[in-house]
Amino acid sequence: MASDAMIDGLDPEQSSAVSAPRGPVCVLAGAGTGKTRTITRRIAHLVDAGHVSPGQVLAVTFTARAAGEMRERLRALGIRGDGGQVQARTFHAAAMRQLKYFWPQVVGSSDWQLLDRKFAVVGQAASKVGLPTSTDSVRDLAGEIEFAKASLVAPEDYPAFVARIRRDSPFDPAKVAAVYDGYEALKSRNPDAVLLDFDDLLLHTAAALENSSAVAEEFRDRYRCFVVDEYQDVTPLQQRVLDAWLGDRDDLTVVGDANQTIYSFTGATPKFLLDFSRRFPDATVVRLERDYRSTPQVVSLANRVIGAARGRIAGTRLQLIGQRDSGPEPTFVEYDDESAEAAGVARSIKRLIDKGVEPANIAVLYRINAHSEAHEQALTSLEIPYQIRGGESFFVRAEVRQAVSAIRVGAGRGDLPDDARRGDGLPSLVRALLAPLGLTTSEPTGAQAREKWASLQALVALTEELVLQVPDLDVDGLLREFAARAEARHPPVVQGVTLASLHAAKGLEWDAVFLVGLTDGTLPITHALGENNSSPDEAAVEEERRLLYVGVTRARVHLELSWALARNAGGRKSRRRSRFLVGLVPDDSPASRIAAPTAQKKRPVCRVCGKPLIGTTATMLGRCDACPSDVDMELLEALRAWRLEKSRELKVPAYVVFSDNTLTAIAE
Ligand code: ATP
Ligand code: MG
Repeated sequence: MASDAMIDGLDPEQSSAVSAPRGPVCVLAGAGTGKTRTITRRIAHLVDAGHVSPGQVLAVTFTARAAGEMRERLRALGIRGDGGQVQARTFHAAAMRQLKYFWPQVVGSSDWQLLDRKFAVVGQAASKVGLPTSTDSVRDLAGEIEFAKASLVAPEDYPAFVARIRRDSPFDPAKVAAVYDGYEALKSRNPDAVLLDFDDLLLHTAAALENSSAVAEEFRDRYRCFVVDEYQDVTPLQQRVLDAWLGDRDDLTVVGDANQTIYSFTGATPKFLLDFSRRFPDATVVRLERDYRSTPQVVSLANRVIGAARGRIAGTRLQLIGQRDSGPEPTFVEYDDESAEAAGVARSIKRLIDKGVEPANIAVLYRINAHSEAHEQALTSLEIPYQIRGGESFFVRAEVRQAVSAIRVGAGRGDLPDDARRGDGLPSLVRALLAPLGLTTSEPTGAQAREKWASLQALVALTEELVLQVPDLDVDGLLREFAARAEARHPPVVQGVTLASLHAAKGLEWDAVFLVGLTDGTLPITHALGENNSSPDEAAVEEERRLLYVGVTRARVHLELSWALARNAGGRKSRRRSRFLVGLVPDDSPASRIAAPTAQKKRPVCRVCGKPLIGTTATMLGRCDACPSDVDMELLEALRAWRLEKSRELKVPAYVVFSDNTLTAIAE
């Protein structure tokens, strides 16, 4: 039995996982059900009950930060002691530590060194094969090599493997295989020390334990108990390391949620989680359904998002049951354009902060890192502090700095046509100057190239936006504006609002979450949909849906989902809200739409019908000719409130958020 302190505040299922006898334990549960809390308590219980000393426990988490948080939580539970500390680390950090220790025993005299010039070596290998050696190309090739190694696929097997899994790649697979082969050969030829990349750390750790019984014995004497968080995103290579750690033992606790598998592109797979009880028939398998993180409203939306998933693997159909008190319905907001969306989100954030929500308890989550620019700007202009998690501020990113300097250099040339310098000319000029950096007309293939492309697109969009505001803006003015924006950005503030990609938000939670940019083509992302949406890759689309599920389940109380119909103010409204929102937002409801508060929308509006006022008399009167003067404004406000109430009562998750045409909607 677990001591009272260790199961205090846990539900019966969580307690059963915490106090299960030593041996295999699998917690298969949805988001916010307390998986991370449960494994921390299980470690504490095993130590507290004297089953293991802290130093004999190796807990693996997904990020170094999560590992730090786990150590912190264990300290808070009073877990430390003579056996040393619990080792809570990422797979890589754990392997590096072990390899440093075991290397002399396994290899002897020659030393190893972490490969710090990886891209240079990949570039060398790429040039031998005749592939481009541009930064993007090399980075994408390095990503492919990492993917192959994480999947335990050798160079010669790579082409058949990627064909089988229909992997989206910009390169000829046979050439990638040749680069991969060449890269390994170049590394092994280093004269001073054996060069290891991050994946080699894992491979060598596994090999050291597999090939040397002395090493295996010493290791297994030292570590007796293993715990893995976020097990749905383990790669075959990480699993091999885990198997090597275990040997023929089975003291392993894993927790995961197959519905949160969002790292397949790196080789991660939920199959180990889903096969756990077949592999360990004696395993204690615990399913948690109670959601402690989110209000029932958020939980209900999460259930609907994941309930619509297609081709799900058996065993993943878990319904979350909200445990928290009722809260506001999630809000769906449609904006005219991206900067209106960012401004609207920033205003909502300001309102929350004014009501007492700490900035650190608020997050804005996006699919594409380039989306941070608009939100950084909008938060900056309202003086709201923020931090970017797992990334850099937009204007600090290498590709953005390179792009700005290309504009500066290009603009300095004397041979530019006059009309390219100002009024519609400026965006075309910027586009032309950025074309050599990778601003192609259609989205490129390759993760790096896409990421960079999205940043360049964001710069062009920003240019278009600025030209709309200042029609005679010239290149110098544009560069001054970029510089001013870069300068105005807050230095990262730990206690600020978090800006993060959906991928970087895994495992975390905030009181208020804003999921932004939810259009088809962003979530799901274009390349999951195929050329012109012609041949969607179903597996990729489903992974995008899981990203939305991860996003939704980060919110404790407030959740707002938004999208913009056009990229720029006044631009063509060619976008559609994400297909994942179909059925969640009532299609025919004018109430789910908010007009963008763009410059032109700031025109005075009629207090009765909400339409823009034309002419000074109407402006003075505050209403247009067509509207009666004796409208009872109180009654209208009451109607508006009634409509909000009604939408809650009908459990329609969308309702009017204040906008100029709210009143029109009611009048209709
Ligand atoms: P994710 O899948 O997103 O990683 P998780 O299953 O790991 O989520 P936790 O982060 O462990 O969930 O817990 C979610 C929240 O619920 C945390 O704030 C945690 O403190 C709280 N919580 C977990 N279990 C309980 C409980 N029994 N009583 C009250 N609060 C709980
Ligand atoms: Mg967790």
